[in-house]
Amino acid sequence: MGVSFEKIDGTILIDFETRPSPNPTPEEERAAKLTDLGFGRVFTDHMAVVHYNQARGWHDARVESRARFLLDPATAVLHYAQEIFEGLKAYRRDDGGVNLFRPDANARRFWNSAERMAMAPLPEPVFIEAVEQLVRIDRDWIPGGEGSLYLRPFMIANEVFLGVKPSSEYVFAVIASPVGSYFKGGPAPVSIWVSENYTRAAVGGTGAVKCGGNYAASLRAQAEAIDHGCDQVVFLDAVERRYIEELGGMNIFFVFDDGSLLTPPLGTILPGITRDSIITLSKQAGTRVREETYTIDQWRADAASGKLREAFACGTAAVISPIGKVCSASGNFVINGGAAGPVAMGLRKKLVDIQYGRAADPHNWIRKVL
Ligand SMILES: *Cc1c(COP(=O)(O)O)cnc(C)c1O
Repeated sequence: MGVSFEKIDGTILIDFETRPSPNPTPEEERAAKLTDLGFGRVFTDHMAVVHYNQARGWHDARVESRARFLLDPATAVLHYAQEIFEGLKAYRRDDGGVNLFRPDANARRFWNSAERMAMAPLPEPVFIEAVEQLVRIDRDWIPGGEGSLYLRPFMIANEVFLGVKPSSEYVFAVIASPVGSYFKGGPAPVSIWVSENYTRAAVGGTGAVKCGGNYAASLRAQAEAIDHGCDQVVFLDAVERRYIEELGGMNIFFVFDDGSLLTPPLGTILPGITRDSIITLSKQAGTRVREETYTIDQWRADAASGKLREAFACGTAAVISPIGKVCSASGNFVINGGAAGPVAMGLRKKLVDIQYGRAADPHNWIRKVL
């Protein structure tokens, strides 16, 4: 077998061939692009790619010029959506070095996503190596200050076949996009729309894995949120339509007057690494954190009585977004007077300081790439 990754003494040898771009973006052009960053529109010069087929396993690992994929119109992913992805960031430290935040957790989640979608799981060391090599070759694209390099590992079913079955071929790739601070001038509270017509995930479905299909299914609800003047949608459970689950792409936390936190339990929601990090940091600080169900009616009542002090959404892209207003067909309510609260802002600073290497890292979350 021509498999490139052989286990020797428990070590997986990964041989990425590096082919630097023959015409990288000129320095001035790159500098200009880095001054005008939104989210996900500017890309670096390279990508990492690894191929899989049944005969050879994972093979042909390369870091090369970012280029278009040539896809046959009958490629499986275009028809049956066998696709998964990840999202993580590289942060520039004050000393000029570069941090990744918990890439092992992303690699593990990617493995779980592949298994759920009947795709070929990618060994975790290959995932991490691909990400690290891309960060190193495109290091000049990492913005300073509060910016970061957003990394997007993904995998598609690459077999040319219209039969409905797991593909026998896959392509794993990592691309990178420099992003500015998500919020100019500090995180502005978001308004969210409670989706009563559409659900995101059901027990036994794919809600707990990061597959593109989950996002496709959420877009109509997100459009409804925008139509109602809201920034984001929040989904309820698919059975009773009462329990808060999560936003389209972020998990959710509630802060009560006794200082405790509550977040919906894992199951149908995406197990966010930011969510997990917030739980760990809060518990370490002596805060009570419950992973329990919470209904939309209770939320409304607690906001009215003052028992609920804050609510916030969390995820890699925005870190923490305070929720200022909740809207639904049956009425709106405001949280913390519509302002960002101290718990959300405190946790945000704690996390961001660890990510940029400005604070101690007691949980070994940081992986120095440079
Ligand atoms: C990626 C994602 C999150 C956040 O996960 P992080 O690991 O914290 O970035 C939350 N919900 C959904 C649906 C997601 O896809």
